[in-house]
Amino acid sequence: MLRAEKAKYRLKFLNIIETHLNKEQLMKLILLGAPGAGKGTVAKLLTKMDGSVQISTGDILRAAVAAGTELGKQAQAAMKAGDLVSDDLIMGIMGERLKEDDCKSGYLLDGFPRTIPQAEALKVLLADMGEELDMVVDIQVAKDVILDRLTTRRTCEGCGEIYNVKSNPPKEEGKCDKCGGAVTQREDETEEAISNRLDVYNEMTAPLASFYEKEGNLVSVNATSSDAVIDAIKAKLAS
Ligand SMILES: [Zn+2]
Repeated sequence: MLRAEKAKYRLKFLNIIETHLNKEQLMKLILLGAPGAGKGTVAKLLTKMDGSVQISTGDILRAAVAAGTELGKQAQAAMKAGDLVSDDLIMGIMGERLKEDDCKSGYLLDGFPRTIPQAEALKVLLADMGEELDMVVDIQVAKDVILDRLTTRRTCEGCGEIYNVKSNPPKEEGKCDKCGGAVTQREDETEEAISNRLDVYNEMTAPLASFYEKEGNLVSVNATSSDAVIDAIKAKLAS
């Protein structure tokens, strides 16, 4: 057999083993991390790796409203009135979502729970379902790194394409490569706005890390790259 061919077979073999291992894992986990910590990227890599589904509060609220379920109608009424959707309502919708078939192969909660009361309620919900979380991953990224990451982002006003003035600028300054629209900084991505969001995150959500540390399933990852986060999760699963 030619060397290149051998290498190809070896790779295929490794892929089969990896797929098999991952299927056994059926991960159920929560991703914590400040805005700009890279939760979205890590979530995509993880769900691709093990076939689990990514669940965020925003997505399930929108889906419940679109499906016109009883809870969805209540959520829609609250949002129309400009009210926050209550924790009870969110927990009800989350409970229905977690009982759907696709969650049997694992799920990844992204941006939920946001507060200690939600974490307490989730604990009760999962206990009722006879389920347990495998781990809670807290992605820690230094504030200056997040500020640098988010304040250099620019968005096309026309098609929503995202650029970065440092790492991925449009070919012509301020003009979208794809549609020619104006490429500008979003109002919520100025240094002041991001600083505020980080403060709110720390106040509301960072205590969750302590909560899950006491529960014994917290994995803190101090990393600036998504790959490093994935490696830390794999290491923890293997241990
Ligand atoms: Zn564009």
